[in-house]
Amino acid sequence: MMNTPLTIPPMLERAERYFPNKQVISRTLAKTHRYTYAEIGKRTRALASVLTELGLKRGERVGTVAWNHHRHLEAYFAAPGMGAVLHMINMRLSPDHLVYVINHAEDKILLIDEDLLPVIESVQEQLTTVHTYIIMTDNESVPESSLAPLFSYEQLLDKGDRGFSFLTGLDENEPAAMCYTSATTGKPKGVLYSHRGIALHSLVQGMVDTTAISENDVCMPVVPMFHVNAWGLPYSATFYGATQVLPGPNFTPQLLAELIESEKVTFTGGVPTIWLGLLQVLNKGNYDASSLRAVICGGSAAPKSIIEAFEKKLGVPFFHAYGMTETSPLVSYSRLKSHQQEWEEEDRYTVRAKQGMAVPLIDIKGVNENGEIAWDGNEMGELLIRGPWIADSYHQDERSIDTFRDGWLHTGDVVTIDEEGSIKIVDRTKDLIKSGGEWISSVDLENAIMGHEAVLEAAVVAVPHEKWQERPIACVVLKEDKKATKEDILEYLAPQFAKWWLPDEIVFMEQLPRTSVGKFLKRALREQVVKTIG
Ligand code: AMP
Repeated sequence: MMNTPLTIPPMLERAERYFPNKQVISRTLAKTHRYTYAEIGKRTRALASVLTELGLKRGERVGTVAWNHHRHLEAYFAAPGMGAVLHMINMRLSPDHLVYVINHAEDKILLIDEDLLPVIESVQEQLTTVHTYIIMTDNESVPESSLAPLFSYEQLLDKGDRGFSFLTGLDENEPAAMCYTSATTGKPKGVLYSHRGIALHSLVQGMVDTTAISENDVCMPVVPMFHVNAWGLPYSATFYGATQVLPGPNFTPQLLAELIESEKVTFTGGVPTIWLGLLQVLNKGNYDASSLRAVICGGSAAPKSIIEAFEKKLGVPFFHAYGMTETSPLVSYSRLKSHQQEWEEEDRYTVRAKQGMAVPLIDIKGVNENGEIAWDGNEMGELLIRGPWIADSYHQDERSIDTFRDGWLHTGDVVTIDEEGSIKIVDRTKDLIKSGGEWISSVDLENAIMGHEAVLEAAVVAVPHEKWQERPIACVVLKEDKKATKEDILEYLAPQFAKWWLPDEIVFMEQLPRTSVGKFLKRALREQVVKTIG
């Protein structure tokens, strides 16, 4: 067979050649843009030529500080297309961590959204490697800024070469992109994605037994483009020639509902909190969401109740997927096998609420102190993963030794695996609650509490306990128009769990603290709870 390298440029070239008239709809601060793949292709080539002119070398990093829009998409292809590496920066990191990731990645050029300029201005003195700043804006002029030199993206593109040829001779194992994990403790850890990893990941996202992204889709990544390459969706959507809707900055659940209705979005992906918000809006019945064929939920566990709410009330198919920054991210996808489709409704939803089977080419196992766990849905162990789009180290980081061992990625996620091979994430190792020598899953409790009709969100954390070592406390946000007491919630949980699993306390809150990628921030919550209940 021919040894054709699996690289990123042919993925865009395919969209240019076969789907030149398909659209990328992109919302920026000023307006909604509509570009065809033919135009996106030319603009991407112009950007690649500009980056070359600015002196960016093969393997060097160019950072983006940007929301989901067409310019960010162009950077996704332009940087790897001219041999460099796109570093998607999480602009919500603390200033310390922001400085750390930019310096650690040795970013040479930063592409920055106009509303995010202040984020970089505030730390610029500490940046040691950046030589050029580019502002991504619809405005004609470059604003006053302390960043220098600061160029306008559009003015640079006007001078760029729209017929630029992407680099030939790229090795498929060269790095193409990079993200840092938003670690809850310690400095963020960098993960480099290879051309090959991204190409194979995109191929698998097109398989019918996984996300099945195709030319028929109108794909709206709500997950930020700095969170594991927006789960690879911009790459695979472009590769397959799907229409893309990029929702831009400051979107609300209403705006997402409007986009779904007006652009007839068929496929979208995001974390559970996004879907809880959208659900509230769609439940009022003012928007038509019938175009959706798949809402993909990952990043944290999707409670069974949210899957049922989307499917039974709204008729919108809802799928649970699992992955990490270290895994590009798709590892497993929850869909029923043909024989499971015959099962009772309750059992079907129980399976669907698990994180699902590993997708093709990904290998998994669970291990604990006794060795490999049985696939019986009961025994718990840490999930280990390997495969062609799983990182084998962190970028220049000695913490690699702990996580990447014996040819496997050690995830830190505690799982059971059932007879059908479906993974269930029981907890993060550090979030499991150890009570009287037994383990309590905070995830199981949260998911059950979120099934209560008055509850909008819930997170369960461990607090220290003299006798039992640790006990669970539930933090609950009620829906706007609903009431419930501690007793109501405990009564609701009682039939579902052993008595010693039930939270000692229910703390009602206005909102739950979140991480920069929208997950519940358990560490902050734990501190808050310990203070509140003494
Ligand atoms: P990140 O690298 O920020 O994407 O975080 C990865 C971590 O998020 C995983 O190690 C899991 O702990 C968690 N996670 C991701 N997807 C899911 C899911 N579907 N269910 C439960 N936890 C998840």
